[in-house]
Amino acid sequence: MINVTKTFFPPIEDYQNQLQRIWNNQWLTNNGELYKELSKKLQDYLGVNQIIPMTNGTLPIQIALNAYAKEGEVITTPFSYVATTASIVWEKCTPVFVDIHPEYLTIDESKIEASITEKTTAILATHVYGNPCDVEVIEAIAEKHNLKVIYDAAHCFGLIYKGQSIFNYGDVSTCSFHATKLFHTGEGGALFCQDEETRQELWYRHNFGHDGPEHYHGLGMNAKMSELQAAMGLSVLPYMEHILKERQRVCEYYDEHLDFTKLSKLKLREGTQWNYAYYPVAFKTENELLKTKAKLEAKKINPRRYFYPSLEALPYINSSDCTIAMDTAKRVFCLPVYDSLNIEDLNKIVSTINV
Ligand SMILES: *Cc1c(COP(=O)(O)O)cnc(C)c1O
Repeated sequence: MINVTKTFFPPIEDYQNQLQRIWNNQWLTNNGELYKELSKKLQDYLGVNQIIPMTNGTLPIQIALNAYAKEGEVITTPFSYVATTASIVWEKCTPVFVDIHPEYLTIDESKIEASITEKTTAILATHVYGNPCDVEVIEAIAEKHNLKVIYDAAHCFGLIYKGQSIFNYGDVSTCSFHATKLFHTGEGGALFCQDEETRQELWYRHNFGHDGPEHYHGLGMNAKMSELQAAMGLSVLPYMEHILKERQRVCEYYDEHLDFTKLSKLKLREGTQWNYAYYPVAFKTENELLKTKAKLEAKKINPRRYFYPSLEALPYINSSDCTIAMDTAKRVFCLPVYDSLNIEDLNKIVSTINV
């Protein structure tokens, strides 16, 4: 079975060594030693201003919306994972979908302003597949209309845009450390922001609003990352260079060997040092996609339709005029990408698609 991805397992001794530290400390969660070490190591590795690791990649989106979107209208992309839209609805905000750019597949920044009303409070856009949104234009729009910018950067671990971490753009960025993502802590994620004051404000919110054991700063919930998750993160992090190099090998194999008269690949925004998070391909029609998917599945190769359906088609949403997103979602799937994907399997995948 070749799935769209395969979780990286560090050598078990590495994980056991981290667990031993937890047993020595007799401390399982709440800002433990491993948590603090992982925070610091990630901050340095990624080159980010501020980080709060959390228990998954969805709660940081909700926390940012809770802090900044204030139950208003949130301008967002229909081409993302369901967590993006669901978080907006969960926080009692109203998603306002803006169609995507036909090549970059990120929110079409030229269509944002037409969707702004007096109820708009924030923009929540996804750097889909690690392809950055037009962060400069979005920032200018947000400034002009006094909106907060939150990026769902779940796919962006290690991604550099114009010489710095993509997490350093926007008021808040979020990442997922889920087992299927590039870097993982089993379940996990993080929130990134630009200054200490914002970090403090959002830190309260991820820990019940606690300001000391008997004082509350305000409303909060529980999004804390445990020591067990941090142990996995500390065990995986040393292998990132290896993971990225091997993923690059896989993506370059596809670049060289796929028949691009039948399908097209993602156009990356200029200035992007990519992280090989996904390998999406677009077919000319949904029918061609379905035929190829069936051929692959017959050989136990499982691409995934990231992201289908377009999120405006969700049962709890009632808008639907993003024609490019609707059409794109029908024609795109992601090919298997993971560090241990070998040349025989790559060959099998490519030859099945190309015939
Ligand atoms: C994976 C993902 C999430 C959710 O992250 P979790 O860690 O699974 O909660 C959110 N947005 C996007 C775009 C994702 O791909």
